[in-house]
This record gives sequence, C-alpha cells and structure tokens, in this order.
Amino acid sequence: MEDDINKSSAVKERKVKGKVEIDVQKCKGCELCISACKEHALSLSDSINIKGYRYIISNNDVCNGCVNCALVCPDAVITVYRTHPKKKPVDITPTDIREQLQSIVGPSK
Ligand code: SF4
Ligand code: SF4
Repeated sequence: MEDDINKSSAVKERKVKGKVEIDVQKCKGCELCISACKEHALSLSDSINIKGYRYIISNNDVCNGCVNCALVCPDAVITVYRTHPKKKPVDITPTDIREQLQSIVGPSK
C-alpha cells in the first residue's frame, strides 16, 4: 500500500504540465483542436472575435502539453508551453511546427 502511494506521488512529480496560449483574434472556431484534445481542455467561448467567430479558450489546469491542438490547427494560432518540475518552461510551438511545415511545403506567402 505504501509502495503504491510512493509510486503515485513519483508519477505526479514527473508529470508534464502544459500551458496553451491562443491568438483569439486569428481563431476561426473550426473546433479541430477541441476534437484533438483528449484532456477536454479546450472549448468555444461565448464571445466572438474581431472576425465574428467564437474562439477557443483553454483550461490549462488539465492540459498535459501533448501539443495535439497546435498540430491540428490550420492557422497555427495555438502556442503550447511545457513545464516540468525540474526544468524551465520550453516554447515548443509554433516555431518548430512552422519550420517543419516550411521544409515540406515552402514558406507561406
Ligand atoms: S496541449 Fe494537448 S492537452 Fe493541452 S490543450 Fe492542447 S491538445 Fe489539449
Ligand atoms: S483549430 Fe485553430 S482555428 Fe480551429 S478552432 Fe482551434 S484554435 Fe481556432
């Protein structure tokens, strides 16, 4: 029993946390990111942005930093930060993704 408690606390210590930032004025509310998020951390806002779309809002308390949302967003408006108890936060999007996409399809016009 004690081992189980120690194991679970060790897992919690290692768990990666995520923080999502969304450029809400560029979001078109297509909801692809909501479908891609297995943690159910994303939802549509009740408000609309400058384009007239309901935009995405995030619940960072349940985000695990998997980056699925940023990968599926066609307009690259999501940035995911990963945090680890013993490491500084690392910005892994969108620069990495843009560079990968640009190496495949070339720079956007
Ligand atoms: S990084 Fe993963 S868990 Fe966090 S909001 Fe995006 S899809 Fe959901
Ligand atoms: S996938 Fe991108 S454009 Fe579509 S709703 Fe999500 S953040 Fe907005």
